[in-house]
Amino acid sequence: MNTTPGRSTDAARPAMHWLLRAEGASKSFGKTRALIGADVTITPGESVAIMGPSGSGKSTLLHVLAGILPADAGTVILNRSDGSGHDDLAALSEDARSSLRLRRFGFVFQQGMLLPELTATENVALPLLLTGTSRAEAGARAESELTRLGLSGLGDRRIGQLSGGQAQRVAIARALITGPSLIFADEPTGALDSHTANDVLDALLHTGRGPDRALLVVTHDAQVASRCDRIIRLRDGQIEANA
Ligand code: ADP
Ligand code: MG
Repeated sequence: MNTTPGRSTDAARPAMHWLLRAEGASKSFGKTRALIGADVTITPGESVAIMGPSGSGKSTLLHVLAGILPADAGTVILNRSDGSGHDDLAALSEDARSSLRLRRFGFVFQQGMLLPELTATENVALPLLLTGTSRAEAGARAESELTRLGLSGLGDRRIGQLSGGQAQRVAIARALITGPSLIFADEPTGALDSHTANDVLDALLHTGRGPDRALLVVTHDAQVASRCDRIIRLRDGQIEANA
């Protein structure tokens, strides 16, 4: 497993020791305790794999960290990108939380959750349009993001006219287009054959990594996990290893 030494010694930038922090985060669905007292700290620049058996709470953890699901107990806190402080996700209004998700987070799901009636370019441009970028600029930036992901020339295709691997690259481009602080990927290659999965994962690790950005990837694949900086292992809703 790689470690990430020396980040705090980077004197050129103001030190931001953590980006997102959950303390004692718990979530139940009825009697099912899906997540129990999760303590997680995500630092800028790192990639983290989340592993565990089916039903162990991986998706729940991701959704709680992203403020999609409110925790029943505990806190999830996000550092502001301008260094002016941090925000408790639960203390924000739903509108503020949605806006923050749109600006600071990118999501890649197993099935891309792309809009089939839109072209690849339009899908990628959407988060920018939602944050007020002009149509022309959003389109141009979407094209260049698609090119970065090896999809140049495919921007005018609808999602159904792309292969599974190409569609997941579109989903990655859409997740990256706003320059988010955190990328959440929930089994992003789970629906692909292993060769394509590897290519898509390469694309995610290459384009999704950045000094100020963290990548969280839920995966069943030990090879995928081994390429991340560390692994969080879940069992029955509890983090059993976080190294
Ligand atoms: P994983 O992603 O590791 O497969 P999940 O986080 O999806 O696990 O689920 C953890 C547990 O919570 C499971 O027992 C699952 O059935 C339950 N669960 C997840 N989401 C819901 C929901 N919306 N309603 C009821 N139970 C849920
Ligand atoms: Mg899941």
